[in-house]
Amino acid sequence: MAGNIGQTTDGGPPAKARVFASDHEQVVFCHDRSSGLRAIIGIYSTALGPALGGTRFYPYDSEDAALADVLALSQGMAYKNSLAGLDLGGGKAVIIGDPEVAKTEPLLRAYGRFVQSLGGRYYTACDVGTYVEDMDVIARESRYVTGRSPAYGGAGDSSVLTAFGVFQGMLASAEHVWGTASLAGRRVGVAGVGKVGRHLIEHLLADGASVVISDIKDRAVEAVVLEHPEVDVAVDTDSMVRRQLDVYAPCALGFALDEDVTAALTARIVCGAANNQLAHAGMDKVLADRGILYAPDYLVNAGGVIQVEDEIHGYNADRARQKAARIFDTTRRVFAIAAAEGVPPAAAADRLAERRMAEVGRLQTIRLT
Ligand code: NAD
Repeated sequence: MAGNIGQTTDGGPPAKARVFASDHEQVVFCHDRSSGLRAIIGIYSTALGPALGGTRFYPYDSEDAALADVLALSQGMAYKNSLAGLDLGGGKAVIIGDPEVAKTEPLLRAYGRFVQSLGGRYYTACDVGTYVEDMDVIARESRYVTGRSPAYGGAGDSSVLTAFGVFQGMLASAEHVWGTASLAGRRVGVAGVGKVGRHLIEHLLADGASVVISDIKDRAVEAVVLEHPEVDVAVDTDSMVRRQLDVYAPCALGFALDEDVTAALTARIVCGAANNQLAHAGMDKVLADRGILYAPDYLVNAGGVIQVEDEIHGYNADRARQKAARIFDTTRRVFAIAAAEGVPPAAAADRLAERRMAEVGRLQTIRLT
């Protein structure tokens, strides 16, 4: 899985068909003619528990593109949930269509009935194009929905815990490179100051780091500068990565790390929230060869999924934060495996995730009765 598992809609080029189907446990095509629902639910693995992953509502060019996306994304969720230490397998769903025009109550409820029909093998949550209010509608037809609004016991915005988790990963990275788990006195470049980026900046400033930001939206930059006038602003991400940085935190869209960016980077550490940061397979090795420590994205950005998982048990903010704090230890462990086995951290993270799926998943073979 290192170097991403195919091109997904996470800000990159359209998904390309790749051969993952044989590795998935189950793929369900859902169609409701009258509401116009066309959805695909991908279950990669239930070795560790019910498959959990969000529902992406997106205007795919073709059913093939939607299928490729859901296969890649559901596999990614299996690895993310495994590394986060959750009792969850990996799944994901895509609804084909433009959410701005196609999203209706009948369509969401029809989708909810398909989720329910899987009997708990798949839990859904928010993703690109779906929001907590949509989960409340889907939940009128299915018990297997999380990431709901606070009015229904949901935890609300997941970006707070995601940013906290990324910061834990960054502290572990700092310890690995500089011997101290602190960003004090370091210069951190944050690309993308949306929901996660803004919260991450708060942790960084509180720890004594200096921060430089970039965002394509002036409004997003202005909001940060208003709150934190000490933050430095770069004209764009391209110029920011070329500045003198200690850490680079991609918090915008996917595919942030290609050959050009990696060659220009002055930072010793890359650790950010964006999904699918490596532009293609092998980029983890390019980074390692340049002496840049890459904290795998799906390891450090698991705070959001930790939050929605906790919600399944009746949300407890302290408990969820404690679980997200473990990202520090897991990141350390991944770096230790990488050093011991002579592989880049992304490959070490894959190995750790696969090991847990195999070892803990195997326990299901012990008959209970
Ligand atoms: P967001 O949409 O709130 O913020 C993204 C920001 O990036 C926006 O302000 C956007 O203008 C900016 N941006 C887009 N392209 C850019 C570019 N080329 N250079 C600089 N800025 C650019 O999204 P978010 O919720 O903050 O999520 C950020 C990333 O983290 C995404 O990749 C998301 O998939 C990932 N992620 C988020 C969560 C979560 O809980 N929100 C969880 C896991 C992963």
